[in-house]
Parts: sequence; structure tokens; C-alpha cells
Amino acid sequence: MSTTTVTSEEQLVNELVDQLLKEFPPSSTDAITFLGAQFDLGLAWVHFPKGHGGLGLSPRHQKIIGERLGKAGGPSAYARNPIGYGMCGPTVVEWGSDEQKKRYLRPLFTGEEIWCQLFSEPGSGSDFAGLSAKGIKDGEEWIANGQKVWTTLAHLSRWGLLVVRTDPEAVKHAGLTAFVVDMHAPGVEVRPLRQMTGEAEFNEVYFTDVRIPESEMLGKPGDGWRVSLTTLMNERVAIGGTTPPRGSGPIAQVVKIWKDLDNSGQDESTRDELMKLWIRAEVLRLTNIRAGQMRKVGVPGPEGSIGKMESANLNKAIYEFAVNLMGPEGMLYGSYEMIRPETAMGFENIQKAFLRSRANSIEGGTTEVMKNILGERVLGMPGDVRVDREVPWSKVPRN
Ligand SMILES: Cc1cc2nc3c(=O)[nH]c(=O)nc-3n(C[C@H](O)[C@H](O)[C@H](O)COP(=O)(O)OP(=O)(O)OC[C@H]3O[C@@H](n4cnc5c(N)ncnc54)[C@H](O)[C@@H]3O)c2cc1C
Repeated sequence: MSTTTVTSEEQLVNELVDQLLKEFPPSSTDAITFLGAQFDLGLAWVHFPKGHGGLGLSPRHQKIIGERLGKAGGPSAYARNPIGYGMCGPTVVEWGSDEQKKRYLRPLFTGEEIWCQLFSEPGSGSDFAGLSAKGIKDGEEWIANGQKVWTTLAHLSRWGLLVVRTDPEAVKHAGLTAFVVDMHAPGVEVRPLRQMTGEAEFNEVYFTDVRIPESEMLGKPGDGWRVSLTTLMNERVAIGGTTPPRGSGPIAQVVKIWKDLDNSGQDESTRDELMKLWIRAEVLRLTNIRAGQMRKVGVPGPEGSIGKMESANLNKAIYEFAVNLMGPEGMLYGSYEMIRPETAMGFENIQKAFLRSRANSIEGGTTEVMKNILGERVLGMPGDVRVDREVPWSKVPRN
């Protein structure tokens, strides 16, 4: 791509952001109207096609939009609908029919319709392709039965991205099919799962004879694994691939705690530890910028696992250090009263952020699984042992 093209693309994006901010000042525009206008101007996901919230440009321009709108006090589609914006939107645009794209993307972006991701099951998390929930064809509909687990924000969701097994006689990756499921349909039951923060941000979801129109399939029967890879690759970038300004986010919180300490707490070894964390945060930020620059239009590659893995390790290290710096106060926790949060993004205090950060190396694929992906698909090392690869799913021994 020539420098001239890059410049004109940036100029176009900047002009559209100017227009958005002029016509819909964030200070006097409600969030839904603002986000709807952002979508209509193609600034929702700038790499999506025109008419579907994008301009067909490189995804690296999204950073300009995010930074400018953030500074101007614009609402965040990601904070309102993290699973929808980060993963389900990119999956619908890649695999959905034109009708599905038209129907789902705008209200997903504005947060009028929250989405959830129905992949994990009690018997299959890392080995997600081994899942057991079933889909059986019945005329122009499919009937889904089974249980999903750890479903973030299912209690608020209007739509879910569901993967079920539609061909048990195929090998495990080949027998899966993906659907958009109506979370208000008869037979869908959402039950809270409580975390160690005291909240229930995620859920168990039971499907009992839930009827899904065939038109709600994403891709074709048997495409479910490839559809899910789109979701999972985007999930890793959404979780670990952000590039906030230098020194912001969790590292800024811990620097503030350090600055507030009296002299006796600011010894040299503690300062050394703080600086090591600051450098790791900056290296991660620069790595993510480089990955973003290299990414062309389309699905992120396996290198998204680097940001996911390091952001999990770093977040855990930062908040552990932060509660240690806080001393006895670090052990105080407001309340364990069970609440159903409206977002999966709210960490109003360090103690809660510390507890929640423990999940970072599990959600979106565990750190061990990220290491396998990086070893095999980026470094080209020999693969993990997979004894069930050539065996029909129905013949694989399971509990
Ligand atoms: C906060 C949070 C939110 C979540 N939200 C969602 C959601 O919205 N939707 C959804 O579908 N899921 C969600 N999940 C589930 C998440 O994707 C799974 O927990 C994750 O994939 C791990 O699966 P598992 O819990 O079954 O653990 P397991 O797969 O049973 O893993 C157990 C342990 O074995 C290790 N392990 C497994 N396989 C290998 C291997 N091949 N090589 C080396 N080590 C291995 C793992 O690293 C882990 O330490 C969420 C989880 C959390 C914590």
C-alpha cells in the first residue's frame, strides 16, 4: 500500500470523526444515538464493509477513531457490549448472510442488543471442539439441546452465538455448526454462576428443545469450527490486543498507589519491581501496536495469542503488586453480596480488580493453550498429542 493511500485513508477517517463530533456532540447526545451515527458513518469497525458499520479500510485506523472519540468523551461500544463488539460482530460480518448483517450489527454496536458467546461446556473448555450440545434438523428448523457454561452476560443478552454438534459421526472439528440463537426463545434457561468477586457476571445456560430457524445458521452445516475460530481469534485481540496510551490502564493505577505511599514504603527494591512492571506494560503496548500495524483487513492471526497471554500474566502481576503495596487495606473488600453486573468491565476498586484478574489467564483460552498455539502455529514446533483427531466424535471415549 502506498504512503499516499495511507494518508488519504487517514484523512477520510479523521474527516468523518470531525463530522460525527460536530453533528452529535458527546456531551449533548445520548449513547445510543451517538453510536448509531458512528455506525452509519462507517466508524464502528472501520475494516467492515460499507453499509455494515465500516469503510473497508485497514483495521489499524480504528485506533485513531478510538483515541479521538475517547478524548471527546464519546461512549464505548466495547464497554457496553464487550462480547458482542469484540467477537460476535466480527463473526457475523465474516459468516452471516446479508439479512443477518443488516438485522444484527447496528443494534449490537449501539448496545441496544447485548450478545453472549455460547461455546464452553462442562466437559469442553480448552478442548472446545469436543463439545456435546446437539443440534438436530427438523424441517426448516434446528432443535438444540445441551448445557453451556461460563457464559458472560447471558443474563442481559438478546442474542447468543451458539455452537452445537450436528454430526456426531464426523471427526470432532467437522461435526459442528454455528447459529445465532434468540436468548428469549422457549427452552433457553439462564442461571447465575457466582465468582470470587461475589458477582455473577457469567452463567450456566440450558437448552431444552430450543427451535432455531435454519436462516439463523452462520455458514453451512459443519462450518462451526471455522466460524468459532473467527470468534476466538477476535476474542484474543479484544482481550489482550488493545493499545491504550503509554502508562495508562492498570499500570497507571499502581503508579498512583506508589506515589501516594509515604517515604518508608518507597524503598529501592519496590521501585525496581514497579519499574519492571512498567517496562513490561510498555513492551506489551508496543507489541500490540506492531501486531495491529501488520494486520490486514480480515481475521486476526495466531500472533493475537501473544497479547492475550502477556496481558493476562501482566494484569495478574500488577494487581498482586498493587494489593501488596496497599498493606492491610489491600485485604479489605466492600461486600460479597451477590449482584448481577450490567457489564463485564467494571473494576471500581483495586481489591476487586485483583480478584477478577485471576480469571485473565483462563477466559478467552488459558495461558497454557496460548503457549501451545504460539509454539505450533507461530514458532512451527511439533504439535500437542491429539489422539482423537481421526476418530468420529461418537467413538471418542468420554466421561
Ligand atoms: C471470566 C470468564 C469468562 C468466560 N466467558 C466465557 C463466555 O462468555 N463464553 C464461553 O463460551 N466461555 C467463557 N469462558 C470459559 C473459558 O473459555 C474456559 O474456561 C477456558 O477455555 C478453559 O476451559 P475450562 O475451564 O474447561 O478448563 P480446561 O480446558 O478443563 O483446562 C483445565 C486446565 O488444563 C489446562 N489444559 C487444557 N488443555 C491443555 C493442553 N492441550 N495443553 C496444556 N494445558 C492444557 C488448562 O490450561 C487449564 O489449566 C469464560 C471463562 C472465564 C474465567
